[in-house]
Amino acid sequence: MRHFWLYFKLGVTTAIMIFIFRPGLPPIETIVTPSVSPSVVTQKISQLPTPNHTPSATAPTLDELVDMAIAAPDIPQDIRYATANNFTGIQLYERPKCYLRHPVAQQVIKAQQLLQQKYPELTLKLWDCYRPHSIQFKMFEHSPDPSYVADPTKGSNHNRGVSVDLTLANRETGKELEMPTPFDDFTEKAAPHATNVSEPAKINRGILRSVMLETGFEPIATEWWHYDGAGRDTSPVLDDPL
Ligand SMILES: [Zn+2]
Repeated sequence: MRHFWLYFKLGVTTAIMIFIFRPGLPPIETIVTPSVSPSVVTQKISQLPTPNHTPSATAPTLDELVDMAIAAPDIPQDIRYATANNFTGIQLYERPKCYLRHPVAQQVIKAQQLLQQKYPELTLKLWDCYRPHSIQFKMFEHSPDPSYVADPTKGSNHNRGVSVDLTLANRETGKELEMPTPFDDFTEKAAPHATNVSEPAKINRGILRSVMLETGFEPIATEWWHYDGAGRDTSPVLDDPL
């Protein structure tokens, strides 16, 4: 019996030593938890088709921008300049497309996620994104007021693919929420801080603003529906047609 306990103790000690000095394994304190898997945003963007040509060193082309219908099919679009239902009364774009530069597309997707965390019944709704530079000249010719239509000689942030015009809608019905003014209402009531608006409009405008600012968008002083994303004023102006 004495021998049994001796061998037993020897066995236990050996097992403990083997555990402590496990060959080839790092000490316990250096084992790190695997990093968090990439966010849904990154996954979605990385699944996008790669540009079908070598990117130029100068201005990118439309192929290098993100098509939001592919990157974020859950965000409804009503690209108003592809219809006659806009302030010029004529169709300016050939196709109703929303293209954005990569980081801005990620910002919009993040804003949609934030919105739906807080208000699952709501969705963003896109009215305008990238706008060809030549169209900017046409718009300015129609309404030469730089407070509302950017001076085409400098180029608008829409021409850089970094701005979005958008509103909120009900996710189920698609109905747009009440806002202070319709799109492209070039009056003082369209200013984000205008006070002569209804209470629901004020609340809805505030919800849109909070998710956009939280994702790094910059507002402008004249239009509640317009936000500038990453690369404003610095990204190159493009004129690829839509
Ligand atoms: Zn705009």
